[in-house]
Amino acid sequence: MSDIAYQVRDSLYLNITNRCTNQCPFCIRYKKREFDQKYLLWLEKEPSIEEIMAAIGDPTKYKQIVFCGYGEPLIRLDIIKEVSRKLKADSRAREVKIRIDTNGHGNLFWGKNILPELKGLIDFISISLNAENAEVYDQICHSFYGKAAYPAIVEFIREAKKYIPEVEASVVDLPTVNKEKCRQIAADLGVKFRVRPYYEETYVR
Ligand code: SF4
Repeated sequence: MSDIAYQVRDSLYLNITNRCTNQCPFCIRYKKREFDQKYLLWLEKEPSIEEIMAAIGDPTKYKQIVFCGYGEPLIRLDIIKEVSRKLKADSRAREVKIRIDTNGHGNLFWGKNILPELKGLIDFISISLNAENAEVYDQICHSFYGKAAYPAIVEFIREAKKYIPEVEASVVDLPTVNKEKCRQIAADLGVKFRVRPYYEETYVR
């Protein structure tokens, strides 16, 4: 049986899909089916709203609840909206921040601007910028959308700022990425910037 939720420090991560529109060679999905040697994250079946709510249990135990997955969570937009609505309606969970970790392809995938639909539901969105331009992004992420992915991500970040209080652009700490240029792009977009560790050492055992 797969784990729908797993805790890291004071955050609860929700594993809602294996599907993704990228094929990053560094993706942990290709390395292991478990995380932290105790959670089995490869989903045999995508969880329902009821299963996700049951996996969350008491939300007040966490500072943050994070939609992520082995894959791209915004592929399950309706589930994210409904679970977030339920959490926001729970008076006990007022202090709990709701976050999405995403590859930023949501508008490409859905063929529309989905960000207004997240207003009032999501407090923090972390978007993987991953590169300083479309060529480097394509080399790193092998997106289903090819070179169209990168400008769409930049636009997704710009648009996210209108609807979500906290927006972060991130990159993986790879030698092929110009992190200073990425930092400048995030600064020009007016969002936070974070370098994520490269987990190869952790997952390949
Ligand atoms: S975007 Fe994330 S989930 Fe998708 S392949 Fe890349 S690392 Fe994996």
